Amino acid sequence: MSASLGPGLWAALLSAAVMTGIVGVRYLMTSGLFAWITARVRPGSYTGLDRQIRSEISWSLLSAAIYGVPAGVVAWGWQQYGWTRIYTDAGAYPLWWMPLSLLIYLFLHDTWFYWTHRWMHLPGPFRVAHAVHHASRPPTAWAAMSFHPVEALTGAVVIPALVFFVPIHIGMLAAVLTIMTVMGVTNHMGWDLFPRRLVESRLGHWLITASHHNRHHESYKCNYGLYFRVWDHLCGTDKGLSSP
Ligand SMILES: [Zn+2]
Ligand SMILES: [Zn+2]
Repeated sequence: MSASLGPGLWAALLSAAVMTGIVGVRYLMTSGLFAWITARVRPGSYTGLDRQIRSEISWSLLSAAIYGVPAGVVAWGWQQYGWTRIYTDAGAYPLWWMPLSLLIYLFLHDTWFYWTHRWMHLPGPFRVAHAVHHASRPPTAWAAMSFHPVEALTGAVVIPALVFFVPIHIGMLAAVLTIMTVMGVTNHMGWDLFPRRLVESRLGHWLITASHHNRHHESYKCNYGLYFRVWDHLCGTDKGLSSP
């Protein structure tokens, strides 16, 4: 059987497996770090949530595979065949494109997330795909990737698809993935990393933090965004922050 699959396919599968490992370890380290900080800054806030946390970790590790496979296959195709518009030579595009491409990736990801998230709050899709994520009440730092496989799939395809269309420097791509990981964790950890004054400032009016996403886990039909409050404000679904 191995001979019929060919070396290319094995290399793609290996890349998918390695990427799954990387996503899983990245999740455990980031969530573990912020859970540890939470235990120091807000002692007792995860008390009694052991069963929920075990379930959050199990679903998240399953999601790591669903995120790892498309990312690993695309990374392999990029290395092997030059798929994607990821570039490594900083001079290939004007320097101003770097920060702009970062913002475009975050905005497009946020837009995709907002609308698929609203779709998953329709009764049918909610039962199938999104109830798993809302079993986290209140969410913890471990809930960052606690998704049903259907929901994980809607999230996993975004960046691997965007790299085929929007040119991005490898360093900026790393920044996008870091922001995605850190915000995914910190928005679920139950307390704001930033002072309340900043969260309630004019800048905070446009950015999603833990108290904004907590409100989503409390009230369901509001605050659907991922990074920005733009779509929530435009569509009248922004219901502000949960109490501190
Ligand atoms: Zn959530
Ligand atoms: Zn939701």
